[in-house]
Amino acid sequence: MASNGYRNGTGTNKGAIKPPASSNIRSSSFKSRLPPSSNHSPGSALRRTSSASFTTAAGVPGRVRVAVRLRPRNAEESTADADFADCVELQPELKRLKLRKNNWESETYEFDEVLTEFASQKRVYEVVAKPVVESVLDGYNGTVMAYGQTGTGKTFTLGRLGEEDTSARGIMVRSMEEILVNVSRETDSISVSYLQLYMETIQDLLDPANDNISIVEDPRTGDVSLPGATHVEIKDEQSFLELLRLGEAHRIAANTKLNTESSRSHAILMVHVKRSVLGEEVAIPTESDKSSHFVKPPKPLVRKSKLVLVDLAGSERVQKSGSEGHMLEEAKSINLSLSALGKCINALAENSAHVPIRDSKLTRLLRDSFGGTARTSLIVTIGPSPRHRGETASTILFGQRAMKVENMLRIKEEFDYKSLARRLEIQLDKLIAENERQQKAFDDEVERINLEAQNRVSEVERNFTDGLEKERLKCQMEYMESVKKLEEKMIENQQKHQHDGFMKDKCNGEGPGFCEDIAVIKKLLEKETHMRKEAEKEVNKLKSQLGQHMDAGAGGDAEILKLQIALEDEVHQKKKLEEEIIILRSQMLQLTFEADQMRRCLARGGSGNAYPGLDSPMSQVRDSLSGHKTPVSALFDQVGVEKILDLLESEDANVRIHAVKVVANLAAEEANQERIVEAGGLTSLLMLLRSYEDETVRRVAAGAIANLAMNEANQELIMVQGGISLLSTTASDAEDPQTLRMVAGAIANLCGNDKLQATLRSEGGIKALLGMVRCRHPDVLSQVARGIANFAKCESRASTNGIRSGRSLLIDEGALPWIVQSANNDAAPIRRHIELALCHLAQHEANAKDMINGGALWELVRITRDCSREDIRSLARRTLNSSLLFRSEMRRLRIEL
Ligand code: ADP
Ligand code: MG
Repeated sequence: MASNGYRNGTGTNKGAIKPPASSNIRSSSFKSRLPPSSNHSPGSALRRTSSASFTTAAGVPGRVRVAVRLRPRNAEESTADADFADCVELQPELKRLKLRKNNWESETYEFDEVLTEFASQKRVYEVVAKPVVESVLDGYNGTVMAYGQTGTGKTFTLGRLGEEDTSARGIMVRSMEEILVNVSRETDSISVSYLQLYMETIQDLLDPANDNISIVEDPRTGDVSLPGATHVEIKDEQSFLELLRLGEAHRIAANTKLNTESSRSHAILMVHVKRSVLGEEVAIPTESDKSSHFVKPPKPLVRKSKLVLVDLAGSERVQKSGSEGHMLEEAKSINLSLSALGKCINALAENSAHVPIRDSKLTRLLRDSFGGTARTSLIVTIGPSPRHRGETASTILFGQRAMKVENMLRIKEEFDYKSLARRLEIQLDKLIAENERQQKAFDDEVERINLEAQNRVSEVERNFTDGLEKERLKCQMEYMESVKKLEEKMIENQQKHQHDGFMKDKCNGEGPGFCEDIAVIKKLLEKETHMRKEAEKEVNKLKSQLGQHMDAGAGGDAEILKLQIALEDEVHQKKKLEEEIIILRSQMLQLTFEADQMRRCLARGGSGNAYPGLDSPMSQVRDSLSGHKTPVSALFDQVGVEKILDLLESEDANVRIHAVKVVANLAAEEANQERIVEAGGLTSLLMLLRSYEDETVRRVAAGAIANLAMNEANQELIMVQGGISLLSTTASDAEDPQTLRMVAGAIANLCGNDKLQATLRSEGGIKALLGMVRCRHPDVLSQVARGIANFAKCESRASTNGIRSGRSLLIDEGALPWIVQSANNDAAPIRRHIELALCHLAQHEANAKDMINGGALWELVRITRDCSREDIRSLARRTLNSSLLFRSEMRRLRIEL
C-alpha cells in the first residue's frame, strides 16, 4: 500500500510512532465539545451544504473516532496458524497496535481505542458507541460503522442479539436500551428503519417487497432521508429485538434469493429519535430602560436526531473472498460502495476540495453521518491470522485515514408548534377549570348571602308583625277599658243627678272624674304616638336593610321583589295602624266631646244634645273664645285636619264613620271651620252626601255641613259645589229625623244668605225644606221654621232696599199654608220662627193679598195679642198698621189691634 502521508509510521522508521498529521487525538468522549478548529476548511462541499437553516447557529467540529478490535483466533486459525504469531500485537494501554511485517519489522499505529480479543461487548459498546448514543440523545446525528474483512466480527460487534446471554449483546441492542431508558414515553418518540444495500439497491429489511428504496436529499438542509422505508415505532426493547430478528430473517431470505452472502451487503439500521425540550429563556433589553430586561419564556422545541448503525460489507477484495463465481458486475457494485467510501474518507482526511460523495449510494446515504454533520465512531475489526495480513493492514490504514476526518456537529432543533399547542391547551384547560371553580364559589357565596338576607328579613318581619300585633291588642284593651270606665262614670253621674238634686252643683265643679279619664286617654294617645314613631323607625330600618341587601345580592332580583312586597305589606300595616290610632283618637275626641256635653248638660240640668252647633252655636264660640282651647280643639291640633279628612276616604267603613263624626264635632267649633274648609273638608263632606251609603255617615256629614253653613263664606262655597241640590236630594230621600234635622238646619242656614235666595229656589232648596215637614219631628220642624224665617227676613231686607219686588218666593213655592198652620205650634222654637216669618212676609204689600187669603192675617193679629215676646208683638202690630191692605181688611172684619 502506498504511503499516503496519513500513515503513522513507515518501514524506515522502525518502532517510531507517528500520530496522524492532524492528530488532535483525545481520550475524551464525544460529549466534550471541541472548540472551532483552525484547520476547518470552509471550502468543503459537505460543510457548505450542511449549513442548514434548521440547525442551531454554530457547529462544533469533532473528529471521527476510530477504535480497532481484534477477534480472537477461531478454531481453524488455532489449528492452522498454531505455529505462527498473530499478525498484530496490541498495546491497549498505549492505544497502539503493532502490525508485524515480518519477524523483525513492524509498524505501529495509534487509535482512539484498541480493543483486544478479550474486550467484552459491554466495553466495546461503552468506548465505541455510548458517546455517540449520548450525543444522539442530546439532539445530534450519530453514526457507528463497523469496517473490516469478512469474518472479523463486524456483525458480532454490532448486531448480536444476545438472546441467551445478555452480556453478548451487540451495539445495536445496547444503543436501543440506552435510548429507551433516557427518553420520555409521553413526549418523545423513537422509530426504526432497517435496510440492506446490495448492488447499489436499497432494500427494506422490514418489508422485503419494498426492494428499491430511493434516497432523498433536502437541497436546502442537505438532510438525507428514505421516505420509502418502513418506520416502526419502538416502545420497548422486546419489540426492537423482534424487529432485528425479523430484519435478519428477511436479510437471509433476500440473500438466498439473490444467491449471495450477507457479507457482501451493507446492513443499515436507522434509529430516529424525536424529543421535546424547552429552549432557553432569552433576556431582551426593554425599550425604555436598556438596563432592565424582559425575559422571554422558553420556547417549546423538538429535537430530531438520527443514529445510524452500519454493518458494512466485508472489506476484502472480491477475488479473495471466493467470489469468482459471481458476475463481474456484482463484484464491481460491491466494490463501488466501499471504494467510494474509502475515496470520500481520503478526500475528507486531506481536506480535499472535492469529496466524491455522489459516487455511490452508500456515500450518499452516509452523507450527513460520515464526514457530514454527525458524531461518528468507526470500529475496524481485524483478525489475528497472519494469512490475512494484507487485508488487515488495509483495514488498519482505512481506520487511520478515517481518524483525520473532521465532522461539523450541529444540533437539529425545530420549533415545536404541536407541543406548544398541546401545552397551551393544557394551560387553557387548567384556566377554564380554575375559572369554573371560582365561578361556582362565587355563585355559592351569592346564594349564601341571599339566604342569609332572606332569613334576616323574615326574622325582622316576624318580630315587627308580632310587635305590632301585641301593641295593637294592648291598645285595644286599654281603649276598651277606658271606654268602660267612662261609661261607668257617666251612669254613675246620671244616677247621682236623678237621685240627688243638688248633685248638679257638684257636677259643675266635678271635672276631676272626666279630667282623669281624659288624662288617661291622653297618655294612651301619647303611647300610641310613640309606638307609631317606633313603627316608622322600624320600617325605615327595614328599608335601609333592604337597600343593603340589594347592594349585596348581585343576582337577587327575585329576592328584592320579595323584600319589596314585604315592605309594601309593612307600609300597609303601618297605614292600618295609623288609621287605628286616628280612630282611637277620634273615638277619644268623641268621648271627650260627649263628656264635655254631659258636663254642660248636668250643669244646666237638661238633656244631652249630640250636635250643639245647630241650637246653641254660641256656646261653642264662647268656649273657644274663653281663652283656653277645648280638649277637642287641642286634640284637633295634635292630629292634624288633613289626616282626619284623609280618613273620610278610608277603605274601612268604621274608620269613615268615626272620621266624619270627628269632622262634624270639629266643624261645630267656629274656630276650626276655616281650617276644615281650607283643607277641603267641605268638599269631602259633600262627597259623602253624594255617595250615600250609610245613614250615620250621611247624618253626621249633613250635620257637619250644617255647622259649616253657619259661616257666610262657606254658604257660597256650598252653593258653588252644588251643595243645595245635594241637600235637597237628601231631604227628599232621607227618613231618619236626625238626618232630616241636619239637612233642614243646613238649608236654614243657607236661607239666611241674601245672595243665595234665587239659587235656593231654583235648585229646589225651598221645596226641599218644606217637604221635610212630612217628618213631623219637632226638631225638624223647628229647623224648617228657622229656614223660612231666615228666608223671609232676607227677602224683606231686599225689598226694603229696593233690590227685589213682587210676591215672596215662599208664597210662590206654596209655603204659606204650612206657615199659617204652624203659627200655633206648641213647640216654642217653631212658633217663634213662624211668628217672625209672618212679620217679615207682612212687611210687603205684594204678599198681603195672599196672606189675607191664606188666613195669615188672623195669625198676625193673634201674635199682636198672645206672643210671649214683647218685641215680636210690637213688630206684628207695626207691620199690620203699615199695610193698607191689612188695615182695610181688619176694618172690614172689624178687628182692632
Ligand atoms: P463478519 O460479520 O465480520 O463477517 P462475524 O461477526 O460474522 O464476522 O464473525 C465471524 C465469526 O467470528 C463468528 O462466528 C463470530 O462468532 C466470531 N467472532 C467474531 N468476533 C468475535 C469475538 N470478538 N469473540 C469471539 N468470537 C468472535
Ligand atoms: Mg457479518
